[in-house]
Amino acid sequence: MEVGGELAPVTVREALSWIAGTLGAAGIDSGEAEAGWMLWRLTGLSPVQLRLRGDQEIPAQDLLQLQSWVAGRRRRVPLQHLMGTAPFLEWELEVSPDVLVPRPETEVLALRAREWLRKSPSGPGPGTLQALDIGTGSGCLAIAMASVPGVAVRAIDASEPALRVARSNARRLGFEGIGFLHRDVFSLGESDFSGLDLIVSNPPYIPTAEIEGLDPEVRDHDPRMALDGGGDGLEFYRFLALRARRWLKASGGMFLEFGDGQAPELCRLFVAAGWGEISTEKDLSGRERILIVHPTVACRS
Ligand code: GLN
Repeated sequence: MEVGGELAPVTVREALSWIAGTLGAAGIDSGEAEAGWMLWRLTGLSPVQLRLRGDQEIPAQDLLQLQSWVAGRRRRVPLQHLMGTAPFLEWELEVSPDVLVPRPETEVLALRAREWLRKSPSGPGPGTLQALDIGTGSGCLAIAMASVPGVAVRAIDASEPALRVARSNARRLGFEGIGFLHRDVFSLGESDFSGLDLIVSNPPYIPTAEIEGLDPEVRDHDPRMALDGGGDGLEFYRFLALRARRWLKASGGMFLEFGDGQAPELCRLFVAAGWGEISTEKDLSGRERILIVHPTVACRS
């Protein structure tokens, strides 16, 4: 891409192949997808449109941007951090090193939560449903719930810098009604919440000893406090299993994201704490990823 310090003219096709090749050589598997993402961001063209316009020349200014993104990716900085945004459902959310980059698996949790709220008997009519997001980070789950009419959302996080990002996302996207609170989940008592319809959370769930083995994009750039779930990764679930039942209405539910292989232990944990109707759902890659629990076993007559 560089000839004698001068930028040579480059076509869309050449740029795509240079980016994918350079990222591949740096040990990044998703080079092709990321190349498409970078070009989409600069040109607004979809991957199919990009292929159709492979001969189109890229303006020098865009080339400089591509080179800077590629240099960042070679240092394994996540593309979302380089761009300052991450896609989440129908939105483009602001992200920073203070928040976990929203992931596609969390979109599955958001979609399930939204579906549940839409179908819930007390909404979306005049009665307001009460929802809580624990460890909101970028605010992605809180915003998804607030997009359902008739839902009042509160969101907590132990990090004030994360809350600044969440508030800014909510404001920019028109969800000023979300109540953001600076709280550490472990400081919450039984009377801190009551009458909630839905609790969602993507808590930290990586066992501490496994963090060193994660991809550098995650290990070195996502906030450690958003990843580290303690010795076996289940510290947050243990607390929520004991504490959160009292916060919910009898008809309420709690939806939690969890990590690979954690489903059996989580089910045991929530059964032992007296929760009912426990089920799990898979993410887009077919892995068990979402735990759904209710405070009581439904009484069907
Ligand atoms: N999904 C993240 C990862 O795989 C972990 C986020 C979390 O612990 N909640 O890196």
